[in-house]
Amino acid sequence: MSSLQAQIEERGERIFDLVDRHPESIFSKAGFYQRMMALSMRDEHFKVQMFRFVDVLASLRRSGDIVQHLGEYFADMRDGLAPVVHTGVRLARIVPWLSSMVLRRNVSGMARQFIAGKNPDDVMKTLRKRRQQDIGFTVDLLGEAVVSEKEADAYAARCSELLERLARETRGWTDPVGKNRELFPVVNLSVKISALYSQMNPADPAGAIAHLAPKLRPILRRARELGAFINFDMESYAHKNTTLELFKILCTEAEFNDWPHAGIVIQAYLRDAEADLRDLIEWGRARGTRFTVRLVKGAYWDYEKIKSRQNGWDYPVYLQKPESDVNFEALTRVLLENQTIVTAAFGSHNVRSIAHAQALAEELGIDRSRFEFQFLYGMAGPIKRALVEMGYRVREYCPVGELLPGMSYLVRRLLENTSNEGFLRAKFSEHVSAAQLLRDPNELVNGKLWPGSPTPATTPNRKPDGYAPEDGASLAAPHDDIYENSPLMNFVYKESQEQMQAALRDVRNRFGRKFPLVINGEKIWTDKLTPSVNPSAPNEIVGYAAEAGIPEAERAVKAARDAFGKWSRTPFEERAQLLERAAAILDRRRYELSALEVFEVGKSWAEADGDIREAIDFCHFYAYQMRLIGRPRLTQQVPGEESYQHYWPRGVALVIAPWNFPMAILCGMVSAALVTGNTVIMKPSEQSLNIGAMLMEIFEEAGVPPGVLNFLNGRGSVIGAHLVDHKDVDLIAFTGSREVGLRIWESAGITRPGQRELKRVVCEMGGKNPVIVDSDADLDEAIVDSIYSAFGYQGQKCSACSRLIVLEENYDRVLERLLSAAASLRVGNPEEPGIMVGPVIDEAAYKRIQDYINIGKGEATLAYQAKAIPGKGYFIAPTIFTGVQPNMRIAREEIFGPVLSVIKVRDLDEAIEVANGTDYALTAGFFSRSPANIEHAKAEIEAGNIYINRSCTGAVVGRHPFGGFKMSGGGTKAGGEDYLLQFLLPRVVTENIMRHGFAPEETAPHRDEFLWPPR
Ligand SMILES: Cc1cc2nc3c(=O)[nH]c(=O)nc-3n(C[C@H](O)[C@H](O)[C@H](O)COP(=O)(O)OP(=O)(O)OC[C@H]3O[C@@H](n4cnc5c(N)ncnc54)[C@H](O)[C@@H]3O)c2cc1C
Repeated sequence: MSSLQAQIEERGERIFDLVDRHPESIFSKAGFYQRMMALSMRDEHFKVQMFRFVDVLASLRRSGDIVQHLGEYFADMRDGLAPVVHTGVRLARIVPWLSSMVLRRNVSGMARQFIAGKNPDDVMKTLRKRRQQDIGFTVDLLGEAVVSEKEADAYAARCSELLERLARETRGWTDPVGKNRELFPVVNLSVKISALYSQMNPADPAGAIAHLAPKLRPILRRARELGAFINFDMESYAHKNTTLELFKILCTEAEFNDWPHAGIVIQAYLRDAEADLRDLIEWGRARGTRFTVRLVKGAYWDYEKIKSRQNGWDYPVYLQKPESDVNFEALTRVLLENQTIVTAAFGSHNVRSIAHAQALAEELGIDRSRFEFQFLYGMAGPIKRALVEMGYRVREYCPVGELLPGMSYLVRRLLENTSNEGFLRAKFSEHVSAAQLLRDPNELVNGKLWPGSPTPATTPNRKPDGYAPEDGASLAAPHDDIYENSPLMNFVYKESQEQMQAALRDVRNRFGRKFPLVINGEKIWTDKLTPSVNPSAPNEIVGYAAEAGIPEAERAVKAARDAFGKWSRTPFEERAQLLERAAAILDRRRYELSALEVFEVGKSWAEADGDIREAIDFCHFYAYQMRLIGRPRLTQQVPGEESYQHYWPRGVALVIAPWNFPMAILCGMVSAALVTGNTVIMKPSEQSLNIGAMLMEIFEEAGVPPGVLNFLNGRGSVIGAHLVDHKDVDLIAFTGSREVGLRIWESAGITRPGQRELKRVVCEMGGKNPVIVDSDADLDEAIVDSIYSAFGYQGQKCSACSRLIVLEENYDRVLERLLSAAASLRVGNPEEPGIMVGPVIDEAAYKRIQDYINIGKGEATLAYQAKAIPGKGYFIAPTIFTGVQPNMRIAREEIFGPVLSVIKVRDLDEAIEVANGTDYALTAGFFSRSPANIEHAKAEIEAGNIYINRSCTGAVVGRHPFGGFKMSGGGTKAGGEDYLLQFLLPRVVTENIMRHGFAPEETAPHRDEFLWPPR
């Protein structure tokens, strides 16, 4: 055993000895909280329900509501828990007021375990008590989710007030350790950076810093005057780089450059942590003034893992608990070895991590008064006491605030205390031995932590064999051929930001490019060019494409018809591979294509990247689906006869796409038609013809044969209408407006002379999408997601929310937060990374939306309209109307712009009636924390895509097959497993295989394709 390990064990055992003299009460068997924790640790389902119930409780005002939620969350508890829980639920139904009072009291009691005070008065009592115990403090104001600048400003003001108050009330307090006290001011405030700015966007650290710095400067300035300390807390990974950068920038400013009382957090569960810490130390040395680092493992492990999985990102966190422990120790060494410039604060409840820091400090000859241990209020009480007794400096992190904003903090603490892998549970609940708890974490990587704990997950994003069901693969998929979504670009990384900036410059330098039509593989120029302009600056022409007339349309139909014979007999595997090659090219050119979308259709960075990602996904998904359905499949096993069902392509497909998802929708419809063996005439929207031309280039590079895909730019009213009516067009895949969609639907129903097939129309149109906010909804989420759904991409997504239906009980609270959140949106040119709302697509859209705003002003109340919008370009101010009645035009007609109608309703039944009361059924959203209401909404809302407790936009291929019904579409689902069937004709071939009473016993479930002539 190394001498360091021996030292760690000795110190660890000493701490345990002291700890065992004062057992940890929160893990004892008495009390409501203790019983809830014990049940949670026994039963995962109970734990989930309990945490959800705690989460909603603070927002419920009536006894009846509390009892109703209690029943909904716990009525179906499994047998083991039945007696306790069922009795509680039954009792509550009999005496609701009493039960809800008791429940509230108990849950408040639970929160009080972790929240040091409701207000500054309250918290001072706690701080005074701790002072008697020689424990210092850092105070944290609860309330992390701010949805608007109004809320962010209020948080900043509360921080300043608290600082004054703490300084006043602690005048005369001395340092409990005495030595090196200049490093550790008595007053210490922890600040949550995201609570100071509501529009944090990882792609735009500079923009965030420009907003955050002016809010923080007065706080830092005052802290300096008062001799106080400010700590920048660390939150989710998305904000990490911005927080680090902000800290360095502010602390290097002349005013703060020689101020040693600022600190920041490093999270050891992050793979980047060591690089960040070393960078900070280098910065600190160059600055020449001390600073502090609070080293923690990190509080958002589950969140980071879920988020990364959803977006296909590499996990930023370690996946094995001992890896975080090992890293904590490695970072402890870095901190202590650099103690001449950085003061270490170790934020851990783990005795092994603590003992390691103590032993290492001793080995390095660092006096124990030069660093400190920090603990959370309400946790690990006996360990705090033990360290004080051993002469170490101990500081407690004391959250202050009301229950409601404190809920997410409370739930994080409950999770931490009940975590399978957490130290506190192992020590105080599972009573794991000291020897086990003090083992070197290096030995535990890839092994079990303690007896009974699960073997840690070793897999990062992908398993070596490529099968990664966690990554969004379809559940029914065979293991050897799995569909995976392409990852979204993660603009948290500086390299991604720089690549996007570079792509924007490159694309701008190539403005004015001209693209030909492509028919039968030939580049065709006509005497007319269609320009496509930048909606943010309409005097800028992004590019041109040759404009087709009727003769070119005719040539394209002939080319597609001629190419059909061979393409339809090309094995599906070759066709699938064409799509995969196209996907690879899309991926290679991803930044360039995203940049082009920013200019040509006014998308923000993330929206543009999402569109390219979706196009890549369509290629992979349809290739994958084609492989599933491509081989003829035996219909039934019956002796003497074999019947195989398979599919033929329909013929020539006309694809007419919109500009709002200029690559994804175009590529989705084209790739579905191609992979199924149809030949295609692709007509992009006139507003996004550059992107359409790019897709043609990409398919040409991928090797699409001449005539199989033809690129025809032109006016919908001319060539679109001509082709829709053409006798040689067999299928029309259309996404766009209701007006054009219905015309196509109708026209395709007419059979023309010489026409071979009944035309199939795949038709996706718009929506008037509702989002319902229930009376118990989590408003932090409901507001942010509704704002995003309504104003993301300027409300020009067919899935965008245009009606917010709010239950009257909640109406005032929702409205107040909604309006201030809208007022905080950044409107501008989306070339800038932090912009959320850009321009609408063109002048016609601009005028149409303005007309609707005028109609709204006549019909309802204009509750909000942004004022600061750019002067040139097609910018429309985000607009909110209230007092909207369901029968008003702004509540019924599709506006396709940043205009939101808010409708007040009595109850959920009325909300659903209003939601269903339009001609459309595309998407819908519902925010609620009532399991029964959620089930009700799931069953009753008329929409093709229903989203509960999340935004109603952003469908992911394969995960959220997309498309609606009623006047929103023909019931097809892009990105769904039955989509390709729309492009195919089913065919069954039956053969009698009996000869003179003899037949094979079994017939193969699949056979090779029927391809003649064979190749
Ligand atoms: C005073 C104080 C301030 C804090 N401030 C912050 C802050 O600003 N930001 C922040 O993010 N955290 C902060 N934390 C940390 C956080 O709240 C947890 O308390 C801390 O991570 C628990 O670690 P531990 O060493 O006490 O316990 P342990 O039980 O030893 O470790 C638990 C931790 O290990 C990590 N972990 C769990 N499972 C895995 C796994 N499978 N793979 C990899 N790692 C895993 C997680 O970080 C988890 O929290 C703070 C903690 C304290 C005490």
